[in-house]
Parts: sequence; structure tokens; C-alpha cells
Amino acid sequence: MKLLDGKKLSLELQTEIAAEVEAHVANGGRKPHLAAILIGDDPASKAYVGHKVKACAKAGFESSLIEREGDISQSELLDMVRELNEDDSIDGFIVQLPLPSHIDNQAVIEAVKPSKDVDGFHPENVGRMALGLPTFLPATPGGIMTLLERNGVKTTGMHAVVIGRSDIVGNPMTTLLSRNAEPGNCTVTQCHSRTVDLKSHTLKADLIIAAVGKPHFVTADMVKEGAVVVDVGINSIEDSSRKSGRRLTGDVDFDNVAEKCSLITPVPGGVGPMTIATLLQNTLRARLASKR
Ligand code: NAD
Repeated sequence: MKLLDGKKLSLELQTEIAAEVEAHVANGGRKPHLAAILIGDDPASKAYVGHKVKACAKAGFESSLIEREGDISQSELLDMVRELNEDDSIDGFIVQLPLPSHIDNQAVIEAVKPSKDVDGFHPENVGRMALGLPTFLPATPGGIMTLLERNGVKTTGMHAVVIGRSDIVGNPMTTLLSRNAEPGNCTVTQCHSRTVDLKSHTLKADLIIAAVGKPHFVTADMVKEGAVVVDVGINSIEDSSRKSGRRLTGDVDFDNVAEKCSLITPVPGGVGPMTIATLLQNTLRARLASKR
């Protein structure tokens, strides 16, 4: 078994991005500027946004973190989005999800100007991705594609099983793996909460993408010998050996599955850092595409 080391690759990508930014600035360009809107005080969301802001600094980007209380009204939030849409100093921005339950997520996603939608969630960008047109790929699936590509995993002809059908991971992952390109060209089975006999599908998979949100959900008896396993899950579980009493773990029973597969992502240090690197790539692309 070999690790698909997302942490290492994301550092390489950040160095490459930083070099591009330096060259752009040396040619008289402005640094890319990513803004993030964070609503409420969910500790996981705070941590994710914190990682993104830190990565911006390392890559030579400007960043702005805009924090508001969880009781913000939908119209106030939509006004903030519109302001960022019109702010020429901002190249791209994200609204950290999940939002409080009184906010209509989809209305917020659709309010973001597609040319600044570096999360790739706007229907226009989702449609462009589905058609294979140039666009911002959603950061997590986009990062997984880069992780496979840069590790020399040839996916053409593979039978891939994607577990999950969310708009941010499972659905775009299915689209990207089945596209006519390398990586891609997979025959994809997409499984979800209503799938009957999940194991019968995963056992046939050359590539498993687990995006379920349940700790250690994919067990060794569900995995074919030699499969490639990508674990998207980030779950906080109890661990009395840690000072905090908790630790992060994935959707895959790593210790036992690792013995059977050829390649596997660790959690943490696999998909998470690739998500951040892809967000930076998208923001740099927004900067370079901008005439401002
Ligand atoms: P989600 O809750 O929106 O989707 C989970 C999916 O799992 C659903 O589509 C559901 O149909 C499927 N599912 C649930 N129970 C199932 C079962 N018994 N059998 C088969 N499928 C089942 O979650 P999400 O936003 O897609 O995220 C999934 C996980 O990935 C979470 O742990 C999340 O924290 C993590 N995540 C990580 C990153 C990263 O950068 N590493 C990014 C996004 C999400």
C-alpha cells in the first residue's frame, strides 16, 4: 500500500502557485485576493476558513475574512454577496457552508457572480463543468482529480464507485470521473443512502471515493484487493489519548482497508489539503482572467 499524500502535494502546488503570483506581480499585476464570508461560530467552519486564510498568505495572496453573527438575516447576507460581486479589489470569494438553517443556501449560492465563484457551486459553473467547458471546478472533487493525476493514477477504464450524492462532493465527483479525459474515463457507479447492498458495488470497484460523513463506514470487507481508496470524510470522534479528547478521522477504516488497497488517502493529510490548494488555483485563475 502507498499513501496518496495530499499534504505533500498541496505544499508543492502552493509553491507553484506562489511562483506564478510572484511572476504576475513582477509584471505589474496585482496579487490575487480571496474573500471568505463566515457566518456564526461553528468550530469546524472556523477551522476550515482559518486554514484557507493561512494558505492565502503562504501563496502570496491577499485575503479578507468577513465574519458575522449566526442571526444575520438572509437579505443582509445577500447584500454582502452583492457588495463582493461589485468590489473590483476581490477576485474570488466563498461563503463557508453550512449556513444557519434560516438561510436559503441555494439563494446565496446563486447570488455569487459566476466569475468570482471560486468554490464552483453556482449553477452556471456546475453546468459548465458538466459540459466539460473551462470553469472553476468545485475544490474537493477538483483536488481529488489533481491528487490522482499527479500521483500517476491512470483512471481510464477503471470501475469507480462514488459513495455520496452531495452537490459539493459526490455529484461533481461522478461527473469528473466519467468525463472523456484522463483522469476520468471511468465507468462510475454512484451510491447513496438509498442504495441497496452497497458492498456488492464497492467490491467491484477499482476506485472508491467515500464521501459519506460517517466514521469508518467503509470497512475492509467492502474493498477489493488492490483498489485505490480516496477518503473524503472528516469526522470528529472521541479519543481519550488526546488532550482535547477528540480527533479527526475519515469515512474509511484506514488501518484495515490500507492492508488491502494499492493506494489510499490518509485523514487528515489527504483530501483536505488538496481542497485548499484547488481553491487557491481557482482564485489565481480568477485573478489572471480578470481585466481589472
Ligand atoms: P452530505 O451529508 O451532504 O452527503 C453524504 C452522502 O452520503 C449523502 O449523499 C448520502 O446519500 C450518502 N450516504 C449516507 N448514508 C449512506 C449509506 N448508508 N450508504 C451510502 N451512502 C450514504 O456530506 P458531504 O458534504 O458530501 O460530505 C461528506 C463527508 O466529506 C463529510 O464527512 C464532510 O465533512 C467531508 N468533506 C470533506 C471535505 C474535504 O475537504 N476533505 C470537503 C467536503 C466534505
